[in-house]
Amino acid sequence: MTNPSFKIVRVAVAVPLRRSFDYLVSDIDTLDKSWVGCRVLVPFARRKQVAIVLSVHTSSDVPESKLKCIDERIDQLPVIDSKMRVLGHWISEYYLHPIGEVFATMLPAALRKGISSDVPATEYLIRNFDDLSALQNELKQAKKQLALCAHLASGEITRAQAKKEFSVAVINELIKKQLISSVVKAYCPNTTWPAQLVVSDNHPANIEQSIAISAINQQHSFATFLLEGVTGSGKTEVYLQVIEPVLQAGKQVLILVPEIGLTPQTVERFEKRFGQVVGVMHSALNDTQRLRVWQQAKDNEIGIVIGTRSSIFVPLAAPGMIIVDEEHDESFKQHDSLKYHARDIAVYRAKQLDVPLIMGSATPSLETLYNALSKKYHHLQLTQRAANATMPSQLMLDIKAQTLEHGIASGLIEKMRAQLEQGNQVLIFVHRRGYSPALLCHQCGHVETCTDCDNPFTLHKVSNNMQCHRCGQHQSVPRKCRQCGNSSLDTFGLGTEQIEQGLQAMFKDYSCVRIDSDSTRGKGKLTELLGEINSQQHQILIGTQILSKGHHFPNVTLAIILNVDGSLFSADFRAPEKLGQLITQLSGRAGRANKPGEVWLQTHQPQHPLLQDLVQNGFADYARSLLLERKQAQLPPYEHQILLRAESPHIGLIQSFLAYAHSTLDQFSRLKLIGPLPCTIEKKQGRFRMMLVVQSSSRQYLHGALGNALEAIEAHENSSKVRWSIDVAPLDFT
Ligand code: ADP
Ligand code: ZN
Repeated sequence: MTNPSFKIVRVAVAVPLRRSFDYLVSDIDTLDKSWVGCRVLVPFARRKQVAIVLSVHTSSDVPESKLKCIDERIDQLPVIDSKMRVLGHWISEYYLHPIGEVFATMLPAALRKGISSDVPATEYLIRNFDDLSALQNELKQAKKQLALCAHLASGEITRAQAKKEFSVAVINELIKKQLISSVVKAYCPNTTWPAQLVVSDNHPANIEQSIAISAINQQHSFATFLLEGVTGSGKTEVYLQVIEPVLQAGKQVLILVPEIGLTPQTVERFEKRFGQVVGVMHSALNDTQRLRVWQQAKDNEIGIVIGTRSSIFVPLAAPGMIIVDEEHDESFKQHDSLKYHARDIAVYRAKQLDVPLIMGSATPSLETLYNALSKKYHHLQLTQRAANATMPSQLMLDIKAQTLEHGIASGLIEKMRAQLEQGNQVLIFVHRRGYSPALLCHQCGHVETCTDCDNPFTLHKVSNNMQCHRCGQHQSVPRKCRQCGNSSLDTFGLGTEQIEQGLQAMFKDYSCVRIDSDSTRGKGKLTELLGEINSQQHQILIGTQILSKGHHFPNVTLAIILNVDGSLFSADFRAPEKLGQLITQLSGRAGRANKPGEVWLQTHQPQHPLLQDLVQNGFADYARSLLLERKQAQLPPYEHQILLRAESPHIGLIQSFLAYAHSTLDQFSRLKLIGPLPCTIEKKQGRFRMMLVVQSSSRQYLHGALGNALEAIEAHENSSKVRWSIDVAPLDFT
């Protein structure tokens, strides 16, 4: 029904402004509530912008003479349905982010750019004859024409397909003879995927797997599960088995995997078990291909969608379950514009859709583990490896006062040589170069610490001092160790490049390869390098975190982890958690049954209780100890944080801007404010970077206070002169 009094659309435009915009619609006869969630093209700041209709109105607060008219309506059906709209508004509030940019993030790139959301109509060929045998004679000399007729006698074919299988000439001849004709059929979704399910054999589940599977399958409405299972314990097998009844019931499953985990092998495992009902959201797909998977999920043409972070926004016609694999992986967090975490959005979506959510990991994030231990999530555990494979042993090497060659202790250099001579590969992990590291004495292992907070000082090169990231107090850098008086005070760690050069010079007969964010820049570069490693073109692998995720290195029998201490004494309180995840994931991937291997940690602190816990009791124990520390230090997940980051070539501008933000937020009594402090990357591309950490024990209070203060902060004179952003539940302080 058209309501003739509607004449205004209120829209969200993808610009960094926290507001909506009103436009007139010239053809008001067509304007009704069916417009909501559709895209329109609007004139905006002398450009044309794609916008989403939020609501329709009979009048506007802005005088009509000042309103512009929309250019056109792009969609007839909403691209953001009512549930997605609610989700978008929640995201906008939770992440304190403008709604227009939120909707833009939620849509596939093609729709963001204004491309039609309709699947194009298809041209088919149909037959005009009744009896094929009557044509045998007539087409005796035209075998191909006869073949096409035979095809049409038993079914239809698209013109595109006929062109490929036969030829344009054959088609045209038959049309001329009026034996066939062409018709255009509007797109009609093919929702028959449940009939195409092929469920092939699975491994008979072991006891722990069975317990997990039946717990999950009893649940048909919203509930969150943490599947905490050691590497190789058969988590994927559990996913496969719990998905089966969901698919059998005609419901869809959304599976999120880390960027690096979306390998052909992963996809193949799902396809092998369930046949061609799987849609994949790859980074390698172009905009149109991604849009197609989005449409297939929305129109219920596929049963499973597997994809990375942004797939959390794929609409589902018949939602049945959501899975987040390797839930601890940092690639689920977006680092620019809308800094969302797909795992957090998964929780909201699962609740909204009233479906079970499963998060799996061998090394769960402390946030998720906390929720499981406090019974907010159901906690399922797999403590044994499924297939018989041994884990490499984890060992520590005390490097206090030892000579290091290219950052590696000489004892380990000898071990490297021994493994290389046996034709094995060796892996050197360089923990991400400590930006703003702690200060440590190589002779005695003493770490310079803030006595008020019992927190290591962080060295800042720009200001040439050391600063406590808990209380903000700073001191000049001491020349000598305060404990032993030696002057071998050091900041941990060489970079990957220096180590590569040094080792290549030392091991001339072997090839070194470096895997870090520099060497893997460019599409397909990482895959290429990994291929070279697996085909054994390189024997010495040197890399950062990138190397630890989702890969399998059966020929690596020795892994050496450098700069362990940098993580133990980092300004980033998550560094020990990340270190434990790295060591555990790596141990789960290096070596194979007949070549088990060793993982060595180089440290000045072999007696450190956390390291002892990790090496002796494993990640599960270690993570629980870390949680205790977090509780004592009143850090997440026990408290909640929002970060204001600001950057500018003029340090004075960010200082005064953040100082103003500080004074505004200081009026809220239940907020804890830390900073302004330098970010862990203090300067980047000529810009100084500083942050203000805003913390509270109540998430609601924190978001409420920040929401209230934002208007004043945005109105500050430097607000438009510096680049600044809000990071809700930040994962790092870079
Ligand atoms: P995860 O996802 O926990 O790393 P996977 O599901 O990949 O573990 O399982 C590890 C290996 O063990 C795979 O080769 C898998 O086929 C095998 N596996 C899993 N479950 C079983 C089982 N119940 N019996 C035998 N092998 C199994
Ligand atoms: Zn302090």
